[in-house]
Amino acid sequence: MHLFQAAPAASGWALALHGGAGGRVEELSLEVGGSYGEGLTGAYLAGAAVLAAGGTALDAVCVTVSRLEDDPLFNAGRGAALTAAGTAELDACVMTGDGRAGAVAACRHARNPVFAARKVMEETPAVLLIAPDEDRLCGWALETVPPEYFLTPARQQQLRNVQERTLEGSRHGTVGAVAIDVRGRVAAATSTGGMVNQSEGRIGDTPIVGAGTYARDGVGALSCTGQGEAFMQGVVAHDVAARVRYLGTPMAEAIEATVQAELAARAATGGLIAVAADGSVVVAHNSPAMFAAYHDGDRLVIHS
Ligand code: ASP
Repeated sequence: MHLFQAAPAASGWALALHGGAGGRVEELSLEVGGSYGEGLTGAYLAGAAVLAAGGTALDAVCVTVSRLEDDPLFNAGRGAALTAAGTAELDACVMTGDGRAGAVAACRHARNPVFAARKVMEETPAVLLIAPDEDRLCGWALETVPPEYFLTPARQQQLRNVQERTLEGSRHGTVGAVAIDVRGRVAAATSTGGMVNQSEGRIGDTPIVGAGTYARDGVGALSCTGQGEAFMQGVVAHDVAARVRYLGTPMAEAIEATVQAELAARAATGGLIAVAADGSVVVAHNSPAMFAAYHDGDRLVIHS
């Protein structure tokens, strides 16, 4: 288990993001010609600008995640991992510390699924919408794209490699962000294409409140990545928050305990990012690697 922590910042706000946890085998940067480090840095700076200007944690996590969705390197939005049928089915979730949440699953038309998840939260009485159609997305004034927009040659090659079994091992890469703003409000957002070669209609932990995404003011906010079924079975994000809330366990210890009890016990791998109510940040994974960015003192830390 790898665990990194950053103390609360003097600024009174904090932001952390991840670009998925897994092994190195799935890196697409050579094919796509980009850099994970640049993508993580750009997304971090976009979210940090919102918080530094006094914006909300919700705005910050949505902007951050949307930047990663637009970057074809990451498994979310354009460049997402593909289903066994070669299609992109996108899942996303947002939650704010006051208990509101919105999510979409198997979304095929919203350029930025995280914005669709936010609209579900703000514009409907529902929490989770499956496959919102173009009419509904346009009604929310969201940008729509044809399903082919999400497909990239690198992901199509990755799918062929997995199907021909020339690519084994980890297939992670989801994105997420957590934040606390200067008023002490927390929010989390997560977005994914799921697991490479998953069957059409398979939904993982990302859009499931409490499994892949969770936020509660006074406790913290969490965004997860990894083998979704284990995160759902262990209700991982909520399990961590419950340890903090009911046992008074510090965030880092709570994450360690949950990873042992709910992931390691299932022989599953993945990672989490969290911001605690005091503004401290934790990045943890039991997979070999995890892409992440957060501030530690005056240093921007990039795990890539
Ligand atoms: N957790 C995601 C899922 O199971 C995949 C990932 O994090 O890479 O859909």
